Amino acid sequence: MRYISTRGQAPVLSFEDTMLTGLARDGGLYVPESIPTLSPDQIAAMAGQSYEEVAYTVMRPFVGDTFTDAQFRDLIAAAYAGFGHAARAPLVQLAPNHFLLELFHGPTLAFKDFAMQLIGQMFQAALARSGNRVTIVGATSGDTGSAAIEAFRGLAAVDVFILYPHGRVSEVQRRQMTTPTESNVHAIAVDGDFDDCQALVKEMFNDFAFRDAVRLAGVNSINWGRVLAQVVYYFTSAVSLGAPHRPVSFTVPTGNFGDVFAGFIAKRMGLPIAQLIVATNSNDILHRTLETGAYIKDSVTPTISPSMDIQVSSNFERALFYAYGQDGAAVASQMADLTRGGFTVSQGAIDALRDTYASGRVSEQETSDTIGTYLAQHGELLCPHTAVGAHVAGQHLGTVPMVTLATAHPAKFLAAVERATGIHPPLPPRMADLYDRTERITRSARDLGAIQNIIRDRITS
Ligand SMILES: *Cc1c(COP(=O)(O)O)cnc(C)c1O
Repeated sequence: MRYISTRGQAPVLSFEDTMLTGLARDGGLYVPESIPTLSPDQIAAMAGQSYEEVAYTVMRPFVGDTFTDAQFRDLIAAAYAGFGHAARAPLVQLAPNHFLLELFHGPTLAFKDFAMQLIGQMFQAALARSGNRVTIVGATSGDTGSAAIEAFRGLAAVDVFILYPHGRVSEVQRRQMTTPTESNVHAIAVDGDFDDCQALVKEMFNDFAFRDAVRLAGVNSINWGRVLAQVVYYFTSAVSLGAPHRPVSFTVPTGNFGDVFAGFIAKRMGLPIAQLIVATNSNDILHRTLETGAYIKDSVTPTISPSMDIQVSSNFERALFYAYGQDGAAVASQMADLTRGGFTVSQGAIDALRDTYASGRVSEQETSDTIGTYLAQHGELLCPHTAVGAHVAGQHLGTVPMVTLATAHPAKFLAAVERATGIHPPLPPRMADLYDRTERITRSARDLGAIQNIIRDRITS
């Protein structure tokens, strides 16, 4: 399996190099040269299998010869062993034909653990074999950073630097990033918003001298390995609701478009997905784009679903690549326009996007009200991101089963949940002492040179 860039100008890479590289050198994102498919019989055979078995079947064709069959099975087993639920991604029924896919049983209580725990295992195995080390730099609106620090802390061949927007992450998110004691992990509070953090990371990747000197690697959701790991739970949940014999729809609380794009890959692999619904908060660039065909940057408004507070949605570039019939030059030209504020998607491409994705936008008040309603009517306490999804899903319920992705545990967004319901959701026992641990924070201006200096000073070699 070989990987190509969405902008068509970067070297073709193996799975291993794609995973270790992150962003392509032409500024694009890596995608598989072709998407393997699974037959209806292969999908039907997943019924009743463990999460790990399904994960192996779904991901194996993408990994090529980077790992042997046995190695890859072991990496999957190690990745999910620390989850707090035997099903890993259990499905809960909310109402007739409406289901909640609980993706928050990993070590940092958000769905990011599904990909990050596996990436941690894969990096460790690949680097141990080559004897190389890497410096991971990532931007986070909260959950990616905590999941990355949790997955990579203490690993010998890796230094990790996470940039997060100062004052704009929840206390649980911040503490998960700032309390690990291992010397290879560093949380940097940047004076700016998430898009500033993400732009700084992209600038570091485009500074090739720095990139090569520190052996930069990326684990943001632009990393293909992240997307791949997220394809798995679309299969486990759809199969438990009757796929491949029956179609299933999904509503996905969306920010950087990684999670919902994994749904697109599942669909292209042969999973019968009727609708993929993009749910946004008031930072609604994706909803506006699907409605109007114009992708125009706006400023970011802080909300109670901060992991979706974003205007430049990186993985949307992958969706565009497929909507443009895999035309890298067309994507490159749209992305060049984006640096000047925005672009208009061609008629053919917007039609293709609307064939795959529907969308909805949810206000702050509606988010709070939805948390209250689902507790009162369905007995489920939702995190604010999940509430955004549930609200949009509610507008699309019909004869096809609808799965809303529950992207985080309500205790991770305590303040918003408490305001909406008066209930103070407790942290799971394994992290009950989080508020007593000592924090270690580096504060930095929104300045590329300053952050590069911090990284050069602190890396192990
Ligand atoms: C990251 C995140 C999202 C958004 O996912 P994307 O893949 O960036 O679209 C939604 N909810 C929560 C809780 C998250 O952590």
